[in-house]
Amino acid sequence: PRSGFCKSNSIFYSKRKLCPHPPNHSLDVTTFISSRAHHGKIAFIDASTGRHLTFSDLWRAVDSVATCLADIGVRKGHVILLLSPNSIYFPVVCLAVMSIGAVITTTNPLNTTREIGKQVADSKPILAFTTRQLVPKLAESTLPIVLLDEDEPSQQYVKSAKILTTLSEMLKKQPSERRVRDRVNQDDTATLLYSSGTTGASKGVVGSHKSLIAMVQIILGRFNLTEGDHRFICTVPMFHIYGLAVFALALLASGTTVVILSKYEMHDMLSAIEKYRITYLPLVPPILVALVNGADQIRSKYDLSSLQSVLSGGAPLSKEVIEGFVERYPTVTILQGYGLTESTGVGASTDSLEESRRYGTAGLLSPGMEAKIVDPESGEALPVNRTGELWLRGRSIMTGYFGNAEATANTLDAEGWLKTGDLCYIDDDGFIFVVDRLKELIKYKGYQVPPAELEALLLTHPEILDAAVIPIPDKEAGQCPMAYVVRKAGSSLSESAIMEFVAGQVAPYKRIRRVAFTTSIPKNQSGKILRKDLIQLATSKL
Ligand code: AMP
Repeated sequence: PRSGFCKSNSIFYSKRKLCPHPPNHSLDVTTFISSRAHHGKIAFIDASTGRHLTFSDLWRAVDSVATCLADIGVRKGHVILLLSPNSIYFPVVCLAVMSIGAVITTTNPLNTTREIGKQVADSKPILAFTTRQLVPKLAESTLPIVLLDEDEPSQQYVKSAKILTTLSEMLKKQPSERRVRDRVNQDDTATLLYSSGTTGASKGVVGSHKSLIAMVQIILGRFNLTEGDHRFICTVPMFHIYGLAVFALALLASGTTVVILSKYEMHDMLSAIEKYRITYLPLVPPILVALVNGADQIRSKYDLSSLQSVLSGGAPLSKEVIEGFVERYPTVTILQGYGLTESTGVGASTDSLEESRRYGTAGLLSPGMEAKIVDPESGEALPVNRTGELWLRGRSIMTGYFGNAEATANTLDAEGWLKTGDLCYIDDDGFIFVVDRLKELIKYKGYQVPPAELEALLLTHPEILDAAVIPIPDKEAGQCPMAYVVRKAGSSLSESAIMEFVAGQVAPYKRIRRVAFTTSIPKNQSGKILRKDLIQLATSKL
């Protein structure tokens, strides 16, 4: 059966129509997307400067950058780091890199030099694209750099960093039809996006051309973009799978115009929605919360009448927020998307007004996606309406974690099932409900905060004997990291000193926002922190 629940092997199948698979296995994701030409139309507009790229400009730029990369010796399998805020050139760099079989790794510009250094050490890029402002964050690496800024490189950073060239120079290059191109197959790696998965520190999620093509097809299937004049606004980061899959890849294949914000700011977003008559607004739950809380002021100040749909994803959205939104913006439909970096994006979604009325659901399985609900204790696959860990299988699932066979084996089983670490149930109609997170991961405003990373950092403090980091609920951010700390004998280390110690070394979204002292961290016999006990303790005290 291709829909509903199959009793014999406890697998849930997607009810959505399967997208046709691309026929040709040597088709790379860039060729797949570019084969759907939309010449003349505008692909990207920079919201702050009004600069734009037509589809013709964009594909010419991709060819020029790809030619330059091949000329300087970038080959299949080489990793290229992209450290940049959202921009109209972000997709150009990604598509050019992937078109020659090289691998793109992205990172959050908010990350510290130390955090970026770790990713560089793990992914071993041979070249980085970044902006002048972000060059100092690569200070610890000796990577050659391509500057994304449009003006000439200033002497200030040329001295300390190895500036190879600028993107503007690359764009002047005449694309060469006959350039050396390694043959790219769909199983080849295209992306290395970093995620902590179910446990531990950040790991490189290996995405293939196949998984990206599958995701482009899934996303295109969600919207009816062929009718009417649709415009999207990009408020979510392109370094994350959400932004990358939707804005740097899928929408290009549909010929839709995207207005890009270099970073999310409420006023800029609302002005751009009004100015460009935006119809689709993809965002993360904290932005939706802000839209609900400020609704009266927002509606009196901005004309948002063009808006048809808001797409929420990346973190849970509560029933109360949905109800508040529906009440205040009655003409706008909220669509939900649930997914992981490891599933290359959307694993389940609500795609219509009717589906979205089932408040609190993460939606129906994406086309071609299979699911199991597994009892975390017994490993038994459960039937409808029973809560267990959600496992997903499908073409868009990652290949594994880069250079980490152990983490891969713990997350992907031999039959290709991805253990999501999310506690869910599936109702009689096939709708998935995310109940809780089984995995350690904390999500602050949609950003990943791996507790293991913060715990390791806390343990480097000379006065800290032991530590555990857990999520606490937060109305605005969704969740915040809280630390339980055991001080060494005689230490009078304060809560604020601990918070400052961490804040000095991590990106702002990873900061510890609350500290409690304890005499010991509860652990099981194998030394694993019993986080649930601490979460319970914190909840009872807060
Ligand atoms: P990431 O890899 O950063 O995309 O994080 C994936 C995790 O975010 C999932 O495993 C969930 O825990 C959470 N998540 C993403 N989308 C949703 C959603 N719509 N509802 C609830 N949790 C979500």
